[in-house]
Amino acid sequence: MVKAKKHLGQHFLTDKKIAQNIVDNLDKTTKNVLEIGPGMGVLTDPLLKTNKYSLKVIEIDTESVTYLENKYPELEIISADFLKSDLQKIFPETFSVIGNFPYNISSQILFKILDYKNHIPEVVGMFQKEVAERVASKPGNKKYGIISVILQAYYDIEYLFTVEPDVFNPPPKVQSAVIRLRRNNIDHLDCDEKLFIRVIKTAFNQRRKTMRNSIKQLIPNKNHPLLSERPEQLTVQQFIDLTNWLDKNKQEK
Ligand code: SAH
Repeated sequence: MVKAKKHLGQHFLTDKKIAQNIVDNLDKTTKNVLEIGPGMGVLTDPLLKTNKYSLKVIEIDTESVTYLENKYPELEIISADFLKSDLQKIFPETFSVIGNFPYNISSQILFKILDYKNHIPEVVGMFQKEVAERVASKPGNKKYGIISVILQAYYDIEYLFTVEPDVFNPPPKVQSAVIRLRRNNIDHLDCDEKLFIRVIKTAFNQRRKTMRNSIKQLIPNKNHPLLSERPEQLTVQQFIDLTNWLDKNKQEK
């Protein structure tokens, strides 16, 4: 048994049916799979039993690593910090990501996945419910925000199911949820991607205002019909349109 360490976000899932369900949501045709934060192996176990995948796991906690080395002598266990690892060294080809992720670094994990988006076709993972909802929310929803738009530009995202605290040891203070991200077919957005991110951040940092009030900082004297909307109403494509309009009108100045 591994002693749970709070600073590593360790909450061990104890319900094997839920673990199986998470693993069953992974694409069966995938070859390479990277599990982040295996802990004591509750997901690793059903992953290995499928006999379908070339599995590697990455774990920061040396006590968990030792535990797993004894339990699965054949498994490739990378004893390292996921956030600091060069993922292409782990899998030079494409790979799926799975995990009951450490909640204290959820957004950092998601942004790292985005950095490697062209190598990661699929992610199935558990987050705190709040983060899962934000990531999966569609336009018009109160929870739709920066991370939703940026991730949904490249991934189709599904909210799979909610998980209650009592199936973990120790139980977390919040509910959890499992989501799935599948890479869409867009290689590059049809706009300046840096400006796109700036537009989204500027818009959502004042999310209660219409976009005219926030985007005005970027472009003082021009108007666009989308600027009378609130940012949470806009689809990814509308943010792209707005970015291109801004780009064009800035150049004309
Ligand atoms: N998957 C296990 C453990 C979940 S708890 C289960 O479901 O029971 C989160 C796990 O992520 C812990 O094992 C923790 O040690 C590990 N972890 C935390 N930060 C990490 C990081 N930066 N890189 C890799 N693993 C990390």
